[in-house]
Order: sequence, then C-alpha cells, then structure tokens
Amino acid sequence: ARKFFVGGNWKCNGTTEEVKKLVTVLNEAEVPSEDVVEVVVSPPFVFLPLVKSLLRPDFQVAAQNCWVRKGGAFTGEVSAEMLVNLNVPWVILGHSERRALLNESNEFVADKVSYALSVGLKVIACIGETLEQRESGDTVAVVAAQTKAIAEKVSNWTNVVLAYEPVWAIGTGKVATPAQAQEVHFELRKWLHDNVSAEVAASTRIIYGGSVNGANCKELASQPDVDGFLVGGASLKPEFVDIIKSAT
Ligand code: 13P
Repeated sequence: ARKFFVGGNWKCNGTTEEVKKLVTVLNEAEVPSEDVVEVVVSPPFVFLPLVKSLLRPDFQVAAQNCWVRKGGAFTGEVSAEMLVNLNVPWVILGHSERRALLNESNEFVADKVSYALSVGLKVIACIGETLEQRESGDTVAVVAAQTKAIAEKVSNWTNVVLAYEPVWAIGTGKVATPAQAQEVHFELRKWLHDNVSAEVAASTRIIYGGSVNGANCKELASQPDVDGFLVGGASLKPEFVDIIKSAT
C-alpha cells in the first residue's frame, strides 16, 4: 500500500513572523499518525533551518529546488549536498513555475532528480501540461515525455514522489475534477508499469497539485490513483490541516 503524502509548497512567501505562526498552527494540529500520512512542508531556503528547528518531529521539510550537480562556482545556487548537510530530507524539483519562468527543460529537471537522489535526497518531481496542451489533446503525451526524461536517468524510484500538477490548475482556483485527476494518474501509473516495472508502478506515490483546498481534497483523495497532494496557496493557511486529514 502506498502511504498518503501531503506536501505544502510555500513558494516564495513568508516572513520570519508568518513562518513561526504557521508552524505553530501545524504543531498544534491533530492529524493522523505518520504511519498513515507523510507530511512535508517546503519553505523558502532561508527559512529551512528555522522551520526545521521548530517543526513537530512527525512532519518533514523539503527544499523547493537545488543545483543540478555538485556545488561550486554557481553564484546564487544551493547544492543538494548542502541540503543533506542540513538534514533536509526532501527537495521539490521541476515545478512548473521553474520550468516556465526559468526555462528548466525535461532533461535539466531529470538531471537534477538524478543528482539529488544520488546524494541521498528524496525527490518530489513535478510534471503537468498547460491548458493549450490539454485542449490539443496532448496531456498524456506531455506528462509521459516529462516522466520518460526522468525515468531515463533514474534507476531506483524508492525515493521519488511524482507530482502531477496541471499548469492550468495552479493558483487559478480551477482544480482538476476528481475524474480528470484520476485519468491522468491512471495513465502515469500505466506508463510506469509499461516502461519501468510493475513494482515501481504499484509502489510510487503519484500526488495531485493545483488549487487543492480544504473543500475539494476529500473527493480527490478518494480516487484510487491519487496518493496525496502538493498544495500551494492553501498550505499557507490553517486549512492545510484539513487537507492532511483527507488521508483517512
Ligand atoms: P496552488 O495550490 O496554489 O494551486 O499551487 C499548487 C502548486 O503549485 C504546488 O506546488
């Protein structure tokens, strides 16, 4: 069985005071045990040590990005080794905002995933189609190509969570319907089955992201191939707790 996974991607938001408040809300929340749901919050780099120091022990942290290879003369970048050094277990890679605004290609994202895994990080790898691609009927082809690029460079999927985040649903309030999410998650699992292995298809968590909130999470979570969520806007609010609770 795949353990339900709820990630909170705080994106480029927050002040020290806001971060402390949010962590207090999370720390006081009554949620299902870590045997039932894996909860990972992802603050901006500069707040990672603070959040790590304050956050309850049954929740984990993720970085929102890292450099593609070993650190060195790469001004402004943060290396995967540094995250390991800080005991940050997870990293989000290939988010659509970085793919679109910073031109991260499928191959570049795959190189990052491969390198991060090689130093011992766990990876939330993001994929998803634009509205134009969906309307042209290319959704499955696009997410398959994004997954293929990763699969070509990754041999062990144990530490990978695949996040399906349709670009048209991110930050728009236009959540995918449960049927839309289930259809793509099913196709992704089938792709893993046919191109990687039956075992990887059965064990890899495929989570959904894009306008998930406290009101729509329950029905999405009930879909057989939806193994959790990657939450943006709502992860900055107390309703993130309701999303965690949708695990049961
Ligand atoms: P929203 O939940 O704000 O739509 O963002 C989703 C997302 O991009 C999570 O990585």
